[in-house]
Amino acid sequence: MFYIGCHLSAAKGFFSMGKDALKIGANVFQFFTRNPRGGTAKKIDRNDVDEFLKTARENRFGIIMAHAPYTLNAAAKDPDIYRFAFDTIQDDLKRMELIPYNYYNFHPGFHLGQGVQTGIDKIVFLLNKVITEKQTTTILLETMAGKGTEIGSNFEELKAVLEKIIFSDKVGVCLDTCHVFDAGYDIVTRLDDVLDEFDRIVGLKKLKAIHLNDSKNLRASHKDRHEKLGQGCIGIDAIRRIINHPSLRSLPFYLETPNQLDGYAKEIALLKTFRTDSE
Ligand code: FE
Ligand code: FE
Ligand code: ZN
Repeated sequence: MFYIGCHLSAAKGFFSMGKDALKIGANVFQFFTRNPRGGTAKKIDRNDVDEFLKTARENRFGIIMAHAPYTLNAAAKDPDIYRFAFDTIQDDLKRMELIPYNYYNFHPGFHLGQGVQTGIDKIVFLLNKVITEKQTTTILLETMAGKGTEIGSNFEELKAVLEKIIFSDKVGVCLDTCHVFDAGYDIVTRLDDVLDEFDRIVGLKKLKAIHLNDSKNLRASHKDRHEKLGQGCIGIDAIRRIINHPSLRSLPFYLETPNQLDGYAKEIALLKTFRTDSE
């Protein structure tokens, strides 16, 4: 099964996202749990969720990905900012149980001069405080481009967080193709080597999802600017290899390319022509 979708606006609720997904040929999608710049979350409407879950079942949707606000910093030095990250993640995880067995993805954070190890220790501490043994949600650390003091732009740093998590089956990694390329990994000409390296350091069993994006910038630019598929420095041939790679093809793919719904529909249709098992 090819699980393919994109980032959708959560403004009109879950049922509306499910309808949008169907309209563009998607069977998975990603959404922000609240305003990406932070702030309070909307109250969840049970009826909306129930209607969505029915649609998802009937249409055999795959795993839905919630994305934490990208401003939260789980490695922050400032106690108020750290507290905000803690409260937000904890509240989001509680709400995620209304749509159980899905993913919650977040950007590991910025150490802001405290040093990578201190940043990692803070992320670990926070995660071990918020993760509960009975939660059904899997928390994913996203691979990052390495802007400034960003943590998570190499596999070693992700491993350093993951190996310290008490309930280790509740955490994994979401690989963003734009970000890893921007971080310096050559997924264009050496995809096998990059995945071997991931397997050696983190373990491929920890890889749970892919953010599928092209990149406006050259490899190792550390800029994090997404591009439409085939219009960036990764290119359509590499994208084709990624979605068909034996180690990746069963994972859900989420597009975060600069598109509206019609643009996403076109990219999804194109990707389906690349796959042998698309329906
Ligand atoms: Fe992200
Ligand atoms: Fe991403
Ligand atoms: Zn990005």
